[in-house]
Amino acid sequence: MYADLNGKVAVITGGSKGIGNAIAQRFGQEHMKVVINYNSDPEGAQKVADAILDQGGQGAVTVQADVATEAGVQAILDAALTNFGDLDVWVNNAGMEIKAPTHELTLADWNKVISINETGVFLGSKAALAYFKAHKKPGNIINMSSVHEQIPWPTFASYAAAKGAVKLFTQTIAMEYAKDGIRVNGIGPGAINTPINADKFADQAQYDQTVAMVPMNRIGKPEEVAAGAAWLASSESSYVTGITLFIDGGMTLYPAFKDGQG
Ligand code: NAD
Repeated sequence: MYADLNGKVAVITGGSKGIGNAIAQRFGQEHMKVVINYNSDPEGAQKVADAILDQGGQGAVTVQADVATEAGVQAILDAALTNFGDLDVWVNNAGMEIKAPTHELTLADWNKVISINETGVFLGSKAALAYFKAHKKPGNIINMSSVHEQIPWPTFASYAAAKGAVKLFTQTIAMEYAKDGIRVNGIGPGAINTPINADKFADQAQYDQTVAMVPMNRIGKPEEVAAGAAWLASSESSYVTGITLFIDGGMTLYPAFKDGQG
């Protein structure tokens, strides 16, 4: 628990399930007031809000919005200001992936992945930065990247390109706004048990293949990613900006070498 988070206002995009759900719940446990954005799953988002309130949370509201649009991002900011009167932490978590060999990837699918994973992070960060600047607040932005900001991923070129962009975008705005006391960091999850991986992990062979790429030999839990988000949001990480915090069981450590080959 981080005492300084008590009463702070946080936005989590894509918060109706998976990692976003876990971050929203963890922030609720930290006694933060939480805005849960969803795009297409109002029931899921409401369940997250209800769970936070049932556990004695200070506040939780849901807001429908597509993070790839300026109007959507404005609606999320408005929800924070209307319900809680302030903004302290903005988590750009919403994301999705489309698998296709690159020579068959359609322009529409490329644009979709880039617009949610990359442009959505830009729009969310821009809205938060403008608010923090206007109110002279030492705000905090957390961008959900991936191990694939570093590890190439054949047949997921649009996703890897977007996450690579998120890495340098995060580093750049961390530098740009450090003088304002605003901290901006990324999180790079490895293989985490969420709906985005449901089909893959339902297939035992693919599950085993994924586990084999993790030196710690297991799939991660959304709560383990949420723990990193809470630390980055808190003043316990007060001298940290521009990093990617990999939460990946060692997946970025070249696991092919794990038994001393090479
Ligand atoms: P998920 O599919 O469970 O959740 C993604 C959320 O984003 C969903 O709630 C979805 O509705 C929302 N979303 C998608 N498009 C949106 C839009 N246009 N506007 C608003 N919300 C939208 O996936 P997850 O695993 O929880 O992923 C969360 C983040 O973590 C993503 O950015 C993903 O790329 C990243 N990530 C996940 C893993 C993993 O193994 N699960 C690994 C690395 C990175």
